Amino acid sequence: IQSKLPKVGTTIFTVMSQLALEHGAINLGQGFPDFDPPEFLVDALARAMREGRNQYAPMSGIPALRQAIAAKTEAMYGHRPDADAEITVTSGASEAIFDAVAAVVRPGEEVIVLDPCYDCYEPAIALAGGVAVHVPLHPHDFSVDWQRVKDAITPRTRLIFINTPHNPSGAMLSAQDMATLAEILRDTPVLVLSDEVYEHIVYDGRRHESVLRYPELAARSFVVSSFGKTYHCTGWKLGYCIAPRALSAEFRKVHQYNTFCTFAPAQWAFAEMIERHPEHHLGLGAFYQPKRDRFRELLTRTRLLPLPVPGGYFQLVDYSQVSDLPDAEFARWLTVEKGVAAIPLSPFYQTAPAGQRLVRLCFAKSEETLQAAVARLQQL
Ligand code: PMP
Ligand code: GLN
Repeated sequence: IQSKLPKVGTTIFTVMSQLALEHGAINLGQGFPDFDPPEFLVDALARAMREGRNQYAPMSGIPALRQAIAAKTEAMYGHRPDADAEITVTSGASEAIFDAVAAVVRPGEEVIVLDPCYDCYEPAIALAGGVAVHVPLHPHDFSVDWQRVKDAITPRTRLIFINTPHNPSGAMLSAQDMATLAEILRDTPVLVLSDEVYEHIVYDGRRHESVLRYPELAARSFVVSSFGKTYHCTGWKLGYCIAPRALSAEFRKVHQYNTFCTFAPAQWAFAEMIERHPEHHLGLGAFYQPKRDRFRELLTRTRLLPLPVPGGYFQLVDYSQVSDLPDAEFARWLTVEKGVAAIPLSPFYQTAPAGQRLVRLCFAKSEETLQAAVARLQQL
C-alpha cells in the first residue's frame, strides 16, 4: 500500500516505553506520572459508573462539565467561553488537535509549527493535505524568533501552532510574545492552535500566558487542554477545545464523526472535581515545583547538565560531557545499558540543530523513582 504518511513510524514515546519495559529500565521517557489521580476524582468516576452515567454523552460534552470549564477559564484568564457553543470535550488533547486541523486546513494550505514541536502536529497537517512549515525556536532557550515567524507567513498560511508551556523544553511564552503574535497576525486570516496542556504546571510564580487572556488572539484561536496532565490520569484520555462559536461549529463537524462523544463517566467526575476542588489545578505548580527542584538537585551528582525548566514536567539535559553519540543512539544506550529511559529530541524536529546533545527526562515521578533513576545516572 502506498502510505499516506510515508515519513511516520512508531512514535518515539511508544518506542522508548517498549524498550524500557524490555530492559527493565526506569522510564523517565514518555510523559506520565507514576502516581495516582486524586482519590476524590477516582471515587467520583466510580460513582458515575455506578449511578448509570454509562451511555453516550452529548456530542459536545455534558453541560455540567462545559459549565465547569467555562467558570474555571473565566477565573483563570478573564475570558468566559460560552459553555454551549464554544467548548467541546474531546478524547484527549490529541483528538482536539486532530479535529481542529481537519476542520480548517485545506489541501495545499500551510501550517506553521515551531520546532521542536510535539509529534502529533505534523501527521494531522499531512492528513488534511496541508503543508507543515517548520520555523526553528532558538536552540539555547527555545524562545520564538518572531521575525522568522513573520517571514514564514504567506497568502497560503492557514494556521500557526503555539505550545506553552512547551513540550519538550518547558519554555513559556511571555506577555510580550503574545502581543507580538497578535500584531503579526492582525491583518491576516491566519488562525491559531494554542496547545496549553501544561497550563497549570508553571513554576517560580510565573504566569501562564493563555491566548484566552488576549481577546484579539482568542477570537482566532483553538485552545486545547488535557485533563490527563492536570489530574495525573493520562490514560483516561479526556481533554477539551475552546474556540469562538464559528470555529467551534466547524470543529464539532469533525468531532461528531471522529468520536461523536467522549467517555461519559469521566466527564461527570471532572465536572465535580473542577467545581469542588479548584485547589488541585490552582496548586499544581506548587505540587510539581519540589519535584522539579529535587530532581535538579539530584542531577548535580551526575555529569548531565540540566537546562532551565520554567514550566511543564520535563527536564532537558545536555549529555555532551558523557557521550558524543547522536541523541537517538544515546537515549537507546541509556535505556538498554544504563537502565534509564529518556526521549531524544531529534524526533521533535524537521532538522535538529547539528551537534545538539539533549535528551528529555520526565520528573512527574515519586521521590523513590527519581532517586533510583539518578543513582543509575551517577554511573555515567
Ligand atoms: N500536546 C502536548 C504538548 C503534549 O505533551 C500532549 C501529551 N503528551 C498532548 C498534546 C496530548 O494530550 P492528550 O494525552 O490529552 O491527548
Ligand atoms: N505527551 C507525552 C509525552 O510527550 C506522550 C504521549 C504519547 O505517548 N503519545 O511524553
